[in-house]
Amino acid sequence: MNLPFKQHLIDPEICIRCHSCEMACTADAIEHDDTNVVVNADLCNYCMDCIPVCPTGSIDEWRVVAEPYSLAAQYGFEELPEQEDLAGAGADNVEALDEAVAALLAEAHQGAGGASKPPASADRPTVNMYPLAKPTSATVQGNYSLTDDPTHDVRHLILDLGGVPFPIMEGQTIGIIPPGTDDKGKAHLPRLYSVSSPRDGERPNFNNLSLTVKREEHGLCSNFLCDLEKGDEVQVTGPFGATFLIPSDPDARLLMICTGTGAAPMRAFTMRRQRSIGGTSGGMTIFFGARTPKSLPYFGPLSKVPKTLLDQHLVYSRDGKKEYVQDRLLVEEEKIAELLVDPNTHIYICGLRGMEDGVERAFTTIAESIGEQWIAMRDVMRQEGRYHVETY
Ligand code: NAP
Repeated sequence: MNLPFKQHLIDPEICIRCHSCEMACTADAIEHDDTNVVVNADLCNYCMDCIPVCPTGSIDEWRVVAEPYSLAAQYGFEELPEQEDLAGAGADNVEALDEAVAALLAEAHQGAGGASKPPASADRPTVNMYPLAKPTSATVQGNYSLTDDPTHDVRHLILDLGGVPFPIMEGQTIGIIPPGTDDKGKAHLPRLYSVSSPRDGERPNFNNLSLTVKREEHGLCSNFLCDLEKGDEVQVTGPFGATFLIPSDPDARLLMICTGTGAAPMRAFTMRRQRSIGGTSGGMTIFFGARTPKSLPYFGPLSKVPKTLLDQHLVYSRDGKKEYVQDRLLVEEEKIAELLVDPNTHIYICGLRGMEDGVERAFTTIAESIGEQWIAMRDVMRQEGRYHVETY
């Protein structure tokens, strides 16, 4: 192994333990224990297959090191180490190392959605309180259908954590461990779901939370969850995620863009604001894409949210004309342009992976219409913790 050695690492604070990277890695370089997902420096061949599949950008972390972090060291990480001072470590080719670090920083965070920062005013979340080795159990308190379309079953599931502390914030996810074993006889890995309730619970102060789950054909965990009945028990890990969080600043304006069940965190954000600052909010705007009104989760409750709190753009792809969220962003070009230039605006994008490119193209067109470069604007927003993407 030659110096400078560029080591691939995973940020344990941001990783939501969905294991997508592990499944995508053809070099078998990514593995996990009950706490962290880590990269074996001896096996990683820099093929980058793991980068685009990561929903959080936590995979896109690199350090130039004199001595690679061992697997044991990475399993012990609670947060990612800073780039070490290699000159101080006695490395003789300091110039080459400096260049390598500069190049690394320049190229870092270009992949996937890019690594994200939390909003400056966000409260600090608890992460991984219940790891794979120590899941907790929750009891199903309710399981309600959210759609009126037999081919598109989306459910609102309320889980009661009982007397067990489970501090969770809007935008975070939890893991659900489906019962049984895989074809190798191993216990299933948890599947990740965003909470759709605010931090004080679906029912305030009763230590409960809600999930928004769509039944997927042949989906192991989604069918398990959608079929649960009141009183059933589920095994839960988490909470996970430390960046896709709501700002506490009441003047922050939120631009939320989502498709289907990607609305889960947006519902949590909206309820949080409704309960905490209500009408004095800086303003929220949602662009929400679904096939039809009957398949749009929370269609009824959304219609009751005051328009002064939430400016709603519900967009349908199979209800007469085909329209996607990115098409509607262009229709509302002036409104979006005004939001993009406001330093109080925070953007959240959640849902289908495919929407990301379309939304980026729409932002590019809108930014150009006001003489701006979208990529430069986005990089500033990301750096300031105001741009967040979670697509699967
Ligand atoms: P869906 O109902 O299949 O699709 C929702 C809407 O998005 C439809 O109108 C669909 O149109 C449209 N769409 C399809 N391709 C698009 C594209 N390239 N650009 C913009 N819009 C597009 O959605 P879903 O099955 O609920 O999926 C939601 C996604 O969110 C899943 O991938 C899920 O993993 C992810 N997610 C879920 C959570 C959660 O907590 N539940 C959290 C984060 C992310 P057509 O199908 O008519 O083309």
